Amino acid sequence: MTQAVVLFGSPGSGKGTQASLLKNCLKVPHISTGDMLREHIREGNALGVRVAATMHAGTLVRDEVVDQLVEARLAEADAQAGFILDGYPRTREQAEHLVGWLDSRGIRELVIHLIVDYNVIVTRLAGRRQCPRCGTLYNTLSNPSRVEGVCDLDGQALVVRDDDRESVIRQRLEEYESQSRPLIEFFREKGRHLVEIDASHETPEALLVQVCRTIGSLEAGGPCEPAVSAAE
Ligand code: AMP
Repeated sequence: MTQAVVLFGSPGSGKGTQASLLKNCLKVPHISTGDMLREHIREGNALGVRVAATMHAGTLVRDEVVDQLVEARLAEADAQAGFILDGYPRTREQAEHLVGWLDSRGIRELVIHLIVDYNVIVTRLAGRRQCPRCGTLYNTLSNPSRVEGVCDLDGQALVVRDDDRESVIRQRLEEYESQSRPLIEFFREKGRHLVEIDASHETPEALLVQVCRTIGSLEAGGPCEPAVSAAE
């Protein structure tokens, strides 16, 4: 059985951190459309050049572009036993595309909606730091690196993402409210498997336990054991 998990929530809800913890637990890849797009920008290829301005402005990249990226990634060998989607789908068109793709393969996904209070989100996004090499996420308040400003895993200097600047954060939250939040209703209407978890105050590790319990109680394979730290 393919284990398909969709982590859904606003920017700053902790999807990326949860996905990177959960991938060790489920042994399936973490597929983040934001990370894939940033990689294209870093490489400076044609796609990267096309999407750079949109991403820096905090608006959404065109549906066809992300649909194609995700579809190509899901076709890779390591995604055949399952995957964790982070940051996709974000629009109704993307959700319809994904649902069609899953249904045509008989894959039943679990959507986990991480619900986080608006003020917590703004504080989190402002404190967010990322390793430019391995992509590990930290937060100066809730999940700091062991040495300030340095990645625990590879010693790279951590950076503030361009789109974590205040004006861009506001734009990204607006995009979420208008385009992405309505997908909760879409998932409900379509009878998809949706679970909501309050993620405002938990540490990443405590939240992982809840997420794993949710998956464990819903999947035939039994509960997975979260045996990793937030830095992994
Ligand atoms: P994230 O890292 O998920 O917060 O995404 C960062 C940025 O990448 C977003 O603000 C969008 O510009 C773009 N992006 C990521 N995923 C998507 C998506 N599913 N649809 C459209 N744009 C996306």
